[in-house]
Amino acid sequence: MHAFTQLFLIMIFLSVSLRLWLSYRQITHIKNHRAQVPESFTGKISLEEHQKAADYTVVKTSFSRWPMFYDTGLLLMWTLAGGMEWLDQSITTMEFSPIVTGMAVMLTFILLSSLLELPFSIYSTFVIEERFGFNKTTAKTFVIDMLKGAFLGVLIGGPLIFTVLWLMEQTGDLWWMYTWLVLTGFSLLMMWIYPTLIAPIFNKFEPLEEGDTLNRIKNLLSRCGFNSNGVFVIDGSRRSSHGNAYFSGFGRNKRIVFFDTLLKMLNDDELEAVLAHELGHFKKKHIIKSMLISFATTFIALGILAWLMKNEWFYHGLGLSTPSTYIALLLFMLISPVFTFILSPLLSMFSRKNEFEADAFAAEQTDAKNLIKALVDLYRENASTLTPDPIYSAFYDSHPPAPVRIAHLNSQT
Ligand SMILES: [Zn+2]
Repeated sequence: MHAFTQLFLIMIFLSVSLRLWLSYRQITHIKNHRAQVPESFTGKISLEEHQKAADYTVVKTSFSRWPMFYDTGLLLMWTLAGGMEWLDQSITTMEFSPIVTGMAVMLTFILLSSLLELPFSIYSTFVIEERFGFNKTTAKTFVIDMLKGAFLGVLIGGPLIFTVLWLMEQTGDLWWMYTWLVLTGFSLLMMWIYPTLIAPIFNKFEPLEEGDTLNRIKNLLSRCGFNSNGVFVIDGSRRSSHGNAYFSGFGRNKRIVFFDTLLKMLNDDELEAVLAHELGHFKKKHIIKSMLISFATTFIALGILAWLMKNEWFYHGLGLSTPSTYIALLLFMLISPVFTFILSPLLSMFSRKNEFEADAFAAEQTDAKNLIKALVDLYRENASTLTPDPIYSAFYDSHPPAPVRIAHLNSQT
């Protein structure tokens, strides 16, 4: 067996074992803490609510093993079992130009992969979310969302794939530098147009009504010296009863967006605290730092790809007979997660550090007590577990575990 094939199989084995071990830890930890509400939440979260959160998390975590096995099976089918080779050969016999062949192979692959993932997204929306009372999506909305997503994917992704393949074919050894510039520009452009052009395709945006809530928000914004292009409410309740709030866009095109579900969960004090937390992410430059990290990661990834694609073993070791730019790109996207999963605690660590900083900012600007109340309401309404396993959490959670976060805030009151 090829040495690279062996390495690939070992990495698959290690990452699957690691994921299984983490999910086992998470489930055991939550079950062991199910009988009692953690001390810092007594009187705030009832035993019934705590147990609902525990059950919801256990069901989601144990279900997540199925797509993991399935995706690993698919990965092996596409690579070593010859799926990609078959797709490549079938399209190559049609004798298009290299770039058209590449586009056809990539788009067919993306289409097939999305169809193959569909059963899991249907199950998690209409069975799991439904069972715990969160799902508000109808079959019609689900299908329309899917079609809109596919249409946008082709409209935006098509020209992007074309450009990348063209650069790979035509610009020589430095193709990956040019590609990096294009991808960086593209992601900035997407961030710029997302709030006004893309998000409204999926949700109805309405300016937040005049009144106390809006006045509180405007006050907070001017106190923090934050310019935005408006405060909006979207109809998140059409799909799910989970609540959320976010900022999008940058420069003058920034929007503050509240899910209508969040407005129902929180009172004005709590909303102000949540918004102050989000503002903290801006003020402490987290958004810019994350962008820079993602640009740097893309740069490194493209550099590695540029090296890999020159080596025959990269293709042969993964079950492909004929080297080409698009096959290199596809293989790279397919196998990277197997090699990078082990690094996820690094990103989570960075993200948690930011969450603490944003919480501290909110505690300065408003009142830590209000943010604590808001968080407790959010944990309750979203049935988020209060007792995640620390190691599982270090891999998967962008936010610190509930008791840790609340204890931090308590020390700031
Ligand atoms: Zn945050």
